[in-house]
Amino acid sequence: NTFKALGLNDAILQAVTDMGFTEPSEVQEKAIPVLLREATDVVALAQTGTGKTAAFGFPLIQKVDATSRKTQGLIISPTRELCLQITNELKSYSKYVKGLNTVAVYGGANIQEQARQISRGAQIIVATPGRMQDMMRRNLVDISGIDFCILDEADEMLNMGFYEDITTILADTPKNKQTWLFSATMPKEVARIAKQFMNDPIEITV
Ligand code: AMP
Repeated sequence: NTFKALGLNDAILQAVTDMGFTEPSEVQEKAIPVLLREATDVVALAQTGTGKTAAFGFPLIQKVDATSRKTQGLIISPTRELCLQITNELKSYSKYVKGLNTVAVYGGANIQEQARQISRGAQIIVATPGRMQDMMRRNLVDISGIDFCILDEADEMLNMGFYEDITTILADTPKNKQTWLFSATMPKEVARIAKQFMNDPIEITV
């Protein structure tokens, strides 16, 4: 199987070649065609190290409109390290997509500087839950028009006590967006989030 057969465009395929990825991982093979094609919610059970960042990152990059400066995609991740790692990966994946900006939003760094980056136009924001809420309270970010919301390592985020933060953030997003939830495990707290905030999600397991 090849990345091209999954439906990815030339800009992404070029970046894939540069990164030296020769074939899609299992989660990529299963998730990418669904996320590209379907206007639907997806729950994917996948561990770290399986290539899940590209599994949601490639379709997200392909689906956002880089000619618009509006924030269209929000990725919520549990830690600053993961937030930065996802941001760096997305930047590599989208290096041939002109005008596409991905901004990282996480605690322990200057909030005004992060706000300044967003104000220059960020189609994709990668955020930790606490800082994201902080920025929302201060009106430094607008997620009222997003089309895609990705919850990465959902089980980890809920373990860390981010339930309230996540539900507060999701409550500020439009109803008609797509939600893609990635989690290594499916404890009842994750199932609860899925039930509360997702519409009839397709399940993908690797
Ligand atoms: P992740 O599970 O998203 O944290 O990815 C784990 C690592 O695998 C990252 O360093 C990716 O850059 C790399 N990776 C992702 N997809 C592939 C692939 N299809 N082939 C080779 N490496 C990959």
